Order: sequence, then C-alpha cells, then structure tokens
Amino acid sequence: MSELLLNHLGGQWRPGTGAGTALFDPVLGHELVRVDATGLDLPAGFAFAREQGGAALRALTYRQRADMLGAIVKLLQANRDAYFEIATANSGTVKNDSAVDIDGAIYTLGIYAKLGAALGEQRFLLDGEPAALAKDGAFQSQHLQLPVRGLALFINAFNFPAWGLWEKAAPALLSGVPVVVKPATATAWLTQRMVKDVVDAGILPAGALSVVCGSSAGLLDTLQPFDVLSFTGSADTAALLRRHPAVAERSVRVNIEADSINSALLLEGEAPGSAAFELLVKEVVREMTVKSGQKCTAIRRVFVPQALYAATAEAVSARLAKTSVGNPRNETVRMGALVSRAQRAAVQQGLQALKAQTEVLHDGAAHALVDADPAVACCVGPSLLGTRDAAGSDAAGRVHDSEVFGPVATLVPYRDAAHALQLVRRGEGSLVASLYGSDDAALADAALELADCHGRVHVVSPAAGAVHSGHGNVMPQSLHGGPGRAGGGEELGGLRALNFYHRRAAVQAAPGVLARWARG
Ligand code: NAP
Repeated sequence: MSELLLNHLGGQWRPGTGAGTALFDPVLGHELVRVDATGLDLPAGFAFAREQGGAALRALTYRQRADMLGAIVKLLQANRDAYFEIATANSGTVKNDSAVDIDGAIYTLGIYAKLGAALGEQRFLLDGEPAALAKDGAFQSQHLQLPVRGLALFINAFNFPAWGLWEKAAPALLSGVPVVVKPATATAWLTQRMVKDVVDAGILPAGALSVVCGSSAGLLDTLQPFDVLSFTGSADTAALLRRHPAVAERSVRVNIEADSINSALLLEGEAPGSAAFELLVKEVVREMTVKSGQKCTAIRRVFVPQALYAATAEAVSARLAKTSVGNPRNETVRMGALVSRAQRAAVQQGLQALKAQTEVLHDGAAHALVDADPAVACCVGPSLLGTRDAAGSDAAGRVHDSEVFGPVATLVPYRDAAHALQLVRRGEGSLVASLYGSDDAALADAALELADCHGRVHVVSPAAGAVHSGHGNVMPQSLHGGPGRAGGGEELGGLRALNFYHRRAAVQAAPGVLARWARG
C-alpha cells in the first residue's frame, strides 16, 4: 500500500483512521499516495487554530506577518524541485504548466510580503477619515478594519494545488487569520507537502496553518460565526455550501469562485494577419492548451466578426495541430494530462454536448499521444468547435452556459459590435474577458461595456502585445473573481484581498478617543 499522508490539525500531525483514498498518476495510472481525514477531532482542531493560531498571529504586526510570508517564499523556492516532481506525478503537467501553479504561488506570496511590509507596525487598519456626527465635530465616526477572530477554511479545487492554497493563505495570514485548508482529493499531495514543509520549518505560530486531506465531511458543521469560508470549485458544490446552516444561519462569510465561460473578443476592423488578429490567435491557443485547459480563467468562447470566422478557424487550428500531447516527462510534449479518468470522462461528455450545437473545426481526437497509453493516460487533444454563422451563435445555448473543463473552445462569429457584446454577456458573469484590437477608443468602450459582468477585462492591443500578462494568468495585483455564474467572489486585487479577512466596524466617539489611533 502507498504512503498515507498525514493531516495537520490541533498543532499535530495525525493520520486518518480509515483505509484512505488513493491519489493516482494520471499519465501512468499507478497509485501514488493515500489521504484520509476519518476520525479527526475537527471541533478541537478548529478551536486550537482559532485560539492558539489566531491569537498568536494577531499579536504580531502586519510587518512581522509579512516577514513570515517572505520566509515562506524562501522555503518554497528551496524545495521547488520536489514540488515540480509531485506536480508531474500527480497532475500530469508539463514543466511550464507546473510552473503556473508553483511559481505562481511563490510570486503571489512574494507580492503580499511586499504589500504587507508597507503596512508597517500596525495591528489593525484605519478605514477612511473620521466623519463628523455633531455639528461642531465634537462627536465623530471612525471606521476600522479588524482581523476576524475566527479561522479561514479553504475548500479548494484540484487544478491549482499550490497557487490555490497560497493565493488565499497569503492575504489571510497577513491579516492575522489562521488557515485550515482542505485541498481537492485528486491532487492533495502538493498542498499537503507545502504545508508540511512550512509547518516543519517553524515559520508560523502553532495553529496558524492546518491541512485536512480527504473527505470534507464535518468541516462546515464545525464553522462558527466569526470564521470565513473560501471555496473554489464547481457551481453544484458551491450551491450546497451556500445552503449549509453555517452560511445560511450562522452568517459565516463565504467567498465563492466557481465555473466561468470566459471570452476572447476580436473587435471589428481587424484584417486576418493583422497584429491584433495574431495576438488573439496566439492567446486562444495558449489558453486552450496551458494545463490542458484546466484553468478557471481559460478562454472558452472566441468571438470574431463573421467575415473572419474561416480565417480564425484556420489560424487557430494550424497552431493547435502542432501541439504534442502525452507524457509530460517526454521533452517533446507540450500538453500533459487531465487530472483524472473522471475529469477525462467529464470533458468528453461536455465535448459531445457542445458538438450537438456546433461544428468541429479542429478535432482533438486526431492527436496521437506521445509516450502514453491511451487506455491509461488521461490525455486528450485540444478541440476547437465553431457555431458557423451569427445565427448559429444565437442558437447555440450550451456554448454560452456550459463549461468544459479541458482543452476545448468554441469560435463564435458575430454580426456587429452590439451583437458581440450581447453574446459575451450570455456567459452571465465570468472571471475574465480579453479584448483584441488596435483602436484604443473602441477597446476602452468595449471594456466599459463588459466590466460589470467580469472580474477582470484584459485588453490586448499591439502596444501591449509583447508585455501583457496573459488572459488567464491571475496576477495578485488585480482582482480575481467574477459575478453571477462565476460565483460572485472577489480574491486578490492587492490589499483589497485583506477585506475578506477583516471586519469593518465604526467607532463613534469624541475626537480625543479617536485620536488614540491617529495615523502615524
Ligand atoms: P468540486 O467537485 O466542486 O470540488 C471542489 C472542492 O470541493 C474539492 O476540495 C472537493 O473535495 C470539495 N467538495 C466536494 N463536495 C463537497 C461538499 N459536499 N462539501 C464540501 N466540500 C466539497 O469541483 P471540481 O470539479 O473538483 O473542480 C473543478 C471546478 O472548479 C471547475 O468547474 C472550475 O470552473 C472550478 N474552478 C474555479 C476556479 C475559480 O477561481 N473560479 C478555479 C479553479 C476551478 P473532494 O476533492 O474531496 O471531492
């Protein structure tokens, strides 16, 4: 039997008492490790996190906690090779794709270490200036932001075991809030190893960072009113969490990052082969193939003027045809595996459903796998579908409301600018839309039209062609999250991320009392 990974709860490493669930290599098919959370004393473990971890973190200043993030950065960098090995084995990703997760995590931590240092020796944050409540200013209201006195429970998705932990833990720990992470079972190994390294290095106070691997049973039941819950995963699970008494009755604050049918939109007036056209083609192919399309921000719908449908189909397909798919250990392979047989089946099912309303422009099935057994490996080639004409774009409802979490995108032709915007909005709220064009005024107008239904609008004009940060790359300086279908959550966005881990309160008092907290 493979190694059983330990949970860290109540300041101790503990095995589950059950047989455990096996994690697999999605390319070679063999068992790697097991996880199990059966029999853990969750109430005692959560109380330890709140009372020991929380109190110790809150006793420190933002600068001291930022120093801890800096120390975590150094530790993770030192162990980076081991993390890449786990990612290859458990996520089936090529090196560049593992880097999106692992180096993305380290970069995000580094940014919060810097932002936190700038907050200095404070233990809470002043929010705005005092507002007069009496005519002569003798009675005022000062808003404060105070670290929540509960814990932060993270229930994470399988596609980012490293970044998914640290993009949430960095602002939580910086805020002074202890973290309990429950990684998705399929890829829990990397999260567990990173937590183990950080805990064993003694960087954080006892109880500040805990990990529960395996079933989520009982986790939500153990939450209390001042805890916060951050969830990343499917809309179906999100709906269950929203209905749980912890959220519905005990007002546990919840952040949800769910499915998203993200768009790329080429504005009118661009010829095939123009700089903007080429930038769109390149980005679409990159987004479809990075991490085999298992990115919540990946481009799923590609909107082009109907006159450019054929040229775009040809250009994207030509690049996709060059994508070698298979065993990430083979250096010629550019795209590795999906995470599991279950995901492979879900992608194939989703693809079939989309094909009922679209034509196939590039068939993923045409890609022979490199160094991988198709009967075992969870690899699929990239597929580009298309709705053929503008009327088809209106009719193909599934294209606008079903997310296939793999290397699949649909080309959607539009009649005019108004039609394009209307079609993009049929995603009913997404994490990100990217716009391509060379007319700055038209780009700015389109960005404003779409900003309310996206967490982020990524504008790629030739001036930014060589330096833009990528449609799907989540930068800690920018907001991550989206309204509607995307879950309604907000993460990152620089110091805005700290809002989720603080409580805002107004203190109403005479100026002499409020002056005790005057800005330094
Ligand atoms: P999922 O089934 O909803 O699982 C997500 C997490 O929830 C896992 O840790 C899972 O644990 C846990 N979970 C499952 N059932 C639960 C329950 N009843 N109570 C509490 N926790 C529960 O999602 P998935 O299919 O693994 O993830 C892929 C989806 O995530 C995609 O649809 C993608 O769009 C979305 N996603 C969104 C973002 C974003 O930032 N918006 C990022 C990444 C992924 P187990 O693994 O143990 O079942």
